[in-house]
Amino acid sequence: MASLDRAIVGCRRCPRLVAWREEVARTKRAAFTDETYWGRPVPGFGPADAALLIVGLAPAAHGGNRTGRMFTGDRSGDVLYQALYDIGLASQPAATGVDDGLTLHGVRVTAPVHCAPPANRPTPQERDDCRPWLVDEVRLLAPTLRAAVLLGAFGWQAALPAFAEAGWEVPRPRPAFAHGARTTLRGAPGDLDLFGCFHVSRRNTFTGRLTPAMLREVLREAATAAGLPVRPE
Ligand code: SF4
Repeated sequence: MASLDRAIVGCRRCPRLVAWREEVARTKRAAFTDETYWGRPVPGFGPADAALLIVGLAPAAHGGNRTGRMFTGDRSGDVLYQALYDIGLASQPAATGVDDGLTLHGVRVTAPVHCAPPANRPTPQERDDCRPWLVDEVRLLAPTLRAAVLLGAFGWQAALPAFAEAGWEVPRPRPAFAHGARTTLRGAPGDLDLFGCFHVSRRNTFTGRLTPAMLREVLREAATAAGLPVRPE
């Protein structure tokens, strides 16, 4: 997994995203002018033998693209890692930088697009061009992977073909995304339970479309399906 992560960090396959991530790293947000932005693809974060995978959308321009770690340094990450901490899968609730001491227990966090896109919107072509990295990642995780939480319709639609390429059987027609959706993929080294969850985006969490309790409920259900010990509500 470490060599895959290194290969991802060196990727320049998508010209528009390469230009954007580097421009953001140069121009910065006023609050972070003293920081050196990562400005490169952001690899997955968490153990290589995880039983549970969380699949988001893409790094945030001033979050993962700044700190170099998935969901680290922005509001979305605050919500996600707080929930993982609450159920016992993260060592601490805060994720501020790569040296903050955060470790994850049995869970890995990744995205189907590894570079920050303008307006948080990758194109379908960019999603497809980045898919081989996700396929490689889930192939490496396959011996231990038993469940995945897919955040938002984008994560759901991007991940299903990757799981198919990695050896799981995806039903036809493909199951539709919904918050609380659950489906099981047969095949690979073991069955894989998929869970749909609204994305932890600022828009969803600020409006109450996704509450901390809703997020904890999906994560707890998925972690239990993956065989991970979770802290009760
Ligand atoms: S989005 Fe993925 S494929 Fe495109 S440049 Fe970044 S890492 Fe490479």
